[in-house]
Amino acid sequence: MEKNAGFMKALKCRECGREYPLAATHVCEFDFGPLEVLYDYDRIRASLTRSTIQSRRQTMWRYAELLPVAGEPTVGFEVGFTPLIRADRLARRLGVRELWVKNDTVNYPTLSFKDRVVSVALSRARELGFTTVACASTGNLANSVAANAAAAGLKAYVFIPADLEQGKVVNSLVYGAEVIGIKGHYDEVNRLCAEIAGKYGWAFVNVNMRPYYAEGSKSMGFEIIEQLAWRVPQHTVVPMASGSLLTKIHKSYQEFTKLGLAPETKYRLHGAQATGCAPISTAQKAGLDFFRPVKPNTIAKSLAIGTPADGFYALRVMKETGGAADDVTDDEVRDGIRLLAECEGIFAETAGGVTVGVAKKLIASGRIPANDSVVLCVTGNGLKTIDAVAGHVGRTREIKPSLREFEALLDAETRSTANV
Ligand SMILES: *Cc1c(COP(=O)(O)O)cnc(C)c1O
Ligand SMILES: [Zn+2]
Repeated sequence: MEKNAGFMKALKCRECGREYPLAATHVCEFDFGPLEVLYDYDRIRASLTRSTIQSRRQTMWRYAELLPVAGEPTVGFEVGFTPLIRADRLARRLGVRELWVKNDTVNYPTLSFKDRVVSVALSRARELGFTTVACASTGNLANSVAANAAAAGLKAYVFIPADLEQGKVVNSLVYGAEVIGIKGHYDEVNRLCAEIAGKYGWAFVNVNMRPYYAEGSKSMGFEIIEQLAWRVPQHTVVPMASGSLLTKIHKSYQEFTKLGLAPETKYRLHGAQATGCAPISTAQKAGLDFFRPVKPNTIAKSLAIGTPADGFYALRVMKETGGAADDVTDDEVRDGIRLLAECEGIFAETAGGVTVGVAKKLIASGRIPANDSVVLCVTGNGLKTIDAVAGHVGRTREIKPSLREFEALLDAETRSTANV
């Protein structure tokens, strides 16, 4: 076992089980299988109890033993422990008994679930001696790497598709990161980054640091269980880009059950995509174990990955847990955004509209039974994708600053509603 590894034991290939040192590597040399962090669960069981967790600060680091950082975290101290909202009004609209929204639109500091994965990846990158960090991003990851690197005094390069939403571009540039717009889809960005990562000694959070990075997503699942008073929800609906978040929420539920922190129950994980980029949901609906790559065309750009790195494993998790996948059109994405905003006062980005829209379909079709309890993972903030809904949310009525004009307006509206 390595020294100074915290509660980690090794990196382990998901395909052949070969073990590797806890370095900045992500694929097996023998079969190119992805590497995953292996923990010492016996030691964790002795250290991590409900009461130790509850005695700690309300951030995702209260589950530190199950996150891949050997020492104290040095990046993103305030990340996580976002609200879990009981969404009764939305539940009534969707026709389900018990509904919760895990609200990562207010995650710290960049308003998406990516702050979880980035603070883990950058804390680990520092432990491994890196001073330059980088990422291939559909937007939110770029924002989070840029902000957290700035706060930690690390140099950052972020690579994004050149046609990204203005909100997400500005949100990376403002922190002083080097932002490189690639004229192509995310999959081309990602391929280029794999080449760059091999050539330069940088910590690419979702390339050579991916085994550590991906583990950060588990914190969302740990929080859901703790916030439900140590209970695993019957259904969790998760947006899928690479498919990683869905697989890691599954891992978090398994770990808490295995450690005795939550009672063992049956649960289903459901995946949500946009129809304009739905390789995983298309395969799931066809009953296939593998997906076919697609060329993305959707307003849900944060989920627009045509060749999802964890798509195969996401399909397996849905199959194992009895979950389903579905996808929604751009109009349904906007409807989902409006529905969540009007019912619960939460303004989500397009990925949130995808999750709400897919949940609606799963409930309507009975794949989520009306009497069950459901958690929706809402992963990003609507203020970053204003353009996606502008022009679809009603309009401002303009009047002169006069009471008479205002009353004339009210009169006209009362009359027009009376007419319908
Ligand atoms: C990155 C991202 C996801 C999920 O990504 P995975 O690659 O599937 O883990 C979900 N929602 C938003 C808003 C994201 O930015
Ligand atoms: Zn292997």
